[in-house]
Amino acid sequence: MPDFDYQLVVIGSGPGGYVAAIRASQLGLKTAIVEKDKTLGGTCLNVGCIPSKALLASSEHLHFARERFAAHGIIAKDIKLDLGAMMKRKGEVVGKLTSGVAYLMKKNKIEVVKGFGRLMDGHTVEVTGDDGAKKTLKTQNVLLASGSVPVELPFLKFDGKRVISSDQGIALAETPKSLLIIGAGAIGLELGSVWARLGSAVTIVEFLPRIAAVGFDQETSKILQRNLEKLGIKFELSTKVTSAKVTGKGVELQAENAKGAVSYQAEIVLVAVGRKPFVTGLGLDQAGVKLTDHGRIAVDGHGQTNVPGVYAIGDVTDGPMLAHKAHEEGTAVAERIAGKPGHVNYDIIPSVIYTAPEAASVGITEEQATERKLDVRVGKFPFTANGRAIASDTTEGFAKIVADAKTDRVLGAHIVSANASELIAETVLLMEFSGSAEDLARTIHAHPTLSEAVKEAALAVDGRTLSA
Ligand code: FAD
Ligand code: NAD
Repeated sequence: MPDFDYQLVVIGSGPGGYVAAIRASQLGLKTAIVEKDKTLGGTCLNVGCIPSKALLASSEHLHFARERFAAHGIIAKDIKLDLGAMMKRKGEVVGKLTSGVAYLMKKNKIEVVKGFGRLMDGHTVEVTGDDGAKKTLKTQNVLLASGSVPVELPFLKFDGKRVISSDQGIALAETPKSLLIIGAGAIGLELGSVWARLGSAVTIVEFLPRIAAVGFDQETSKILQRNLEKLGIKFELSTKVTSAKVTGKGVELQAENAKGAVSYQAEIVLVAVGRKPFVTGLGLDQAGVKLTDHGRIAVDGHGQTNVPGVYAIGDVTDGPMLAHKAHEEGTAVAERIAGKPGHVNYDIIPSVIYTAPEAASVGITEEQATERKLDVRVGKFPFTANGRAIASDTTEGFAKIVADAKTDRVLGAHIVSANASELIAETVLLMEFSGSAEDLARTIHAHPTLSEAVKEAALAVDGRTLSA
């Protein structure tokens, strides 16, 4: 390695970047990681997956205590919210995990370079520190893992107070009396759940005719909507916000739906209409790295950009913006750089929305099977007939298996239930092994467990469910 200081320099320490750095170091590559923010861990650990799940857990406890304790014979009077303490706990959870990443960097002998990384050419990264000092890193390979940032609506600029993104939506100091969320995707539904449980009057405006429309089947959308409405969330579907005015008291919004013009007012508006790749200042032009038509860094199926030695992964590249997708790509790219056959199976990436009940999905939906003219058999089982769900007071939802009619190979699984995020894992593994519904149906599941509903759904593919 005569002319290089490193074999790999990673820009960005999110779940894509930090995992890639660890795997590269495990494989003997001299690795550095560049991060512009104070703490490591990227969007996911600092302002995304982790803080949102901490608040979802805390707010779900509060809701359960208020609504269901009495039915369980627990008398807890005067249950109150201490939002400050809830936020403090969230901060501690984030701190534990971000410092955990710092520990892992040290343990794996990865050099952490704090500052803003810019690609000068395919083998040179310039890092500008907070104090303006510049450092040049010469490297054999570069991995761009710069992630994404929230999309802003042109007529509704973020001001961090009245018009916010998820960055502020996970850190409000007070519960807003009214919260209007634009977008019924993962962020809208998760943060909508948090603030509705904590006492906000939440309205979610979505321009598609159903919620959770990306990647989830229609029945999932229906059950989620019904449960979120029980929480008090109001949905305005097939509605497009067209303009907005920020006033001293809040935000006034104009929108259009099939009936004509409508208007809304809210103390705070949370815009959750998606995220966009973050490539500002990354030096892509200078280094000649090409973007796709959608502004993401263009890569082949193995994370390689058009510039030799420069790779990209995670939210900044095509595909679902999910931490585990970034994570898996990070592993695969590091392995390929080290001369090993790293690979990501893009057909089998699970997706979860952490509402109550949770929604989890992998592979194709029934609707997609119809669109693609695939001959499938579908097995479904309701949690109202599952012993563990009844005992635990979590009977909302179903498990559904979509299998090829001829070969019985499982092509998709869709679960709405408590802990659906965990239940989906066995179907992901089954699909990785090209397993059949019969394989799942004949696998012994412990009793009583929620996972028995997944087995029953597999039995239902062949019309022989035993418990419903
Ligand atoms: P990021 O995590 O965005 O990390 C990129 C890092 O690069 C950042 O730290 C950034 O500061 C740094 N960086 C960027 N440019 C430079 C530069 N030029 N120099 C130095 N550093 C730079 N996904 C899930 O799978 N499950 C969830 O439950 C989930 N919940 C979410 C909840 C919310 C509220 C949000 C916003 C997102 C959530 N996501 C979730 C999505 C998930 O956070 C992202 O898919 C994931 O973080 C992408 O990882 P990444 O490594 O590609 O980028
Ligand atoms: P999203 O793409 O999941 O959902 C955005 C929603 O906003 C869509 O339903 C879309 O139809 C709607 N929309 C877009 N423009 C609109 C407009 N002008 N008016 C009304 N509705 C509009 O995006 P998100 O919820 O912002 O999340 C961003 C990214 O973060 C996603 O890729 C998501 O996968 C990821 N994320 C994942 C999780 C998770 O895995 N649990 C949680 C949060 C975020």
